[in-house]
Amino acid sequence: MVRAENVHKSFGRLEVLKGIDLEVRQGEVCCVIGPSGSGKSTFLRCINHLEKINAGRIWVDGDLIGYRERGGKLHEMREKEVAEQRRAIGMVFQRFNLFPHLTVLENVMEAPLRVRREPKAQVRERAVELLSRVGLADKVDAYPGQCSGGQQQRVAIARALAMRPKLMLFDEPTSALDPELVGEVLDVMKSLASEGMTMIVVTHEIGFAREVGDSLVFMDGGVVVEAGAPREVIANPQHERTRAFLAKVL
Ligand code: ATP
Ligand code: MG
Repeated sequence: MVRAENVHKSFGRLEVLKGIDLEVRQGEVCCVIGPSGSGKSTFLRCINHLEKINAGRIWVDGDLIGYRERGGKLHEMREKEVAEQRRAIGMVFQRFNLFPHLTVLENVMEAPLRVRREPKAQVRERAVELLSRVGLADKVDAYPGQCSGGQQQRVAIARALAMRPKLMLFDEPTSALDPELVGEVLDVMKSLASEGMTMIVVTHEIGFAREVGDSLVFMDGGVVVEAGAPREVIANPQHERTRAFLAKVL
């Protein structure tokens, strides 16, 4: 479902990604851990082309992201085509990024209405269904400001799902939450995983990675230091840097 090959990304002279390779199969949950500044968020943003990569290639569901290949050469896609690709990729950030002036239901309906121009009754029905799925049936008419952080983050997940993504990217979705609200968001992600959604999850929740992850990737300094089955990486890290990081977070 996702294949990254030798992905490089620099900001000016700062090289943040130094050749990332990654493969995530259909239905797989890939968890990404690593110290602050190691390039985790940047890598996620490259996958949906919020950041332009300097070298390498990324495919999502067989589509080369951001570029067309013609005669062995890569040509940048137009913004419209990029937007089209991005629609198939849901993203949930650390901060909830909901529209404060729209209700919970309107937040979930916004993109399918505006972008997909689907019939309103159909969009509404599906939005209500998604909100019940994340346990928020009783919050449809509330405004984000009237919801807890955990509830807002579940709205953000429902909003991403409303676009029927093939892939979901999560960037530390629980790290801005009070500890008692973390579980409800992880539970939603867990059920999404069990329904077969392909997910890449940047997280500090090692328990989640161990329990729900099919693979675990440890990034440091812009490279993948180590990757494998979560239990193995956690119980028996092969690299000193992985060991040192895990010792700090476990
Ligand atoms: P954290 O765990 O703190 O979220 P991270 O692994 O997600 O860290 P990134 O946010 O990907 O790390 O950042 C990697 C490096 O790239 C950092 O040194 C950061 O300062 C730098 N960086 C990220 N975005 C930009 C940008 N838009 N312009 C310049 N530098 C950037
Ligand atoms: Mg980050």
